[in-house]
Amino acid sequence: MTYDLVIVGGGPAGLTAGIYAARARVKALIIERALAGGKLTSVDLIENYPGFPEPISGAELSSRMEEQVRRLGVPIKNADVAEVKVSPDGFVLRTRDEEITARTVIWATGSGPSPLGVPGEDRLRGRGVSYCAICDGFFFRDQEVAVVGGGDSAVQEALYLTRFVKKVYLIHRRDTFRATPILLEQLEANSKIEKIVNTVVKEIKGEEGVTGLELEEVTTGKQSFLPVSGVFIYVGVKPASHLVQDLVDLDRHGYIITDEKMATRTPGLFAAGDVRQKPLRQIVTAVADGAVAAMSAERYLRERKS
Ligand code: NAP
Repeated sequence: MTYDLVIVGGGPAGLTAGIYAARARVKALIIERALAGGKLTSVDLIENYPGFPEPISGAELSSRMEEQVRRLGVPIKNADVAEVKVSPDGFVLRTRDEEITARTVIWATGSGPSPLGVPGEDRLRGRGVSYCAICDGFFFRDQEVAVVGGGDSAVQEALYLTRFVKKVYLIHRRDTFRATPILLEQLEANSKIEKIVNTVVKEIKGEEGVTGLELEEVTTGKQSFLPVSGVFIYVGVKPASHLVQDLVDLDRHGYIITDEKMATRTPGLFAAGDVRQKPLRQIVTAVADGAVAAMSAERYLRERKS
């Protein structure tokens, strides 16, 4: 069986593409390797998604999107795509168990956390080093932890952690934060968070688990040790574009370049959501990308038929 459209990635972009494809009567399949909702499932409270005047949790919003997709009859397959090839009919996607053929593909794989790249990080991953406060924050109840980064994720997750932990040290390499003003206001008002600015982490220390961080003040070069039992790293994201890198143009950060119809340089291959080069990565822009990509795929199929 050849699908009209295979959507790779079941985050907000992919799920929305599924909704629009179903309503356009395009025979679609969504492939997601983990949980439908993607990164959204590990967001605490969302205050900027229109229609939810009371903040909604990422898990709740994801499950509502998934329910909507399922109600419209789009199957969501739990699998990991390992390879994508162009074929005479369109595309062949290989998972561990099968090959799936599709006339069009929407690549909506999002992005994953960037590592900090310091000694101790890999060795202590899962033993005090985390990239997900929602998943792991609870284990640090009444303890002192650090969050590294100065963007929306770092500030939002530092705020979230204050519900459980005794204290959060927010470590940022500059003295100005790029996080959105409303989050910075909440940060200033939270007495459980101490900012450590102009400072980088040189090493994560510990044997069985994290015991502390070696820090360096960037202006003076002064070194210090900060005892913490956990460190949450939010220093940006890496787009999951490597499997299609030969079929698309990438910018220097690895984001997929599309036109405004979400088309890549390979006919029939579209990209949507955080994996795409764009000025604003938010749930609203991801869902908008998904809708546009699905309608572009539908038009592409229609034009090819005629
Ligand atoms: P980000 O905006 O790229 O911020 C990454 C932060 O990490 C920056 O402050 C950066 O410092 C710092 N950093 C990068 N490399 C570093 C290194 N090697 N060592 C130390 N610090 C380093 O990433 P993000 O916060 O994960 O956000 C990603 C996207 O999702 C953004 O578009 C963001 O707006 C969006 N987002 C939105 C929300 C929301 O609306 N509530 C929540 C989460 C994420 P510099 O500032 O010095 O570059």
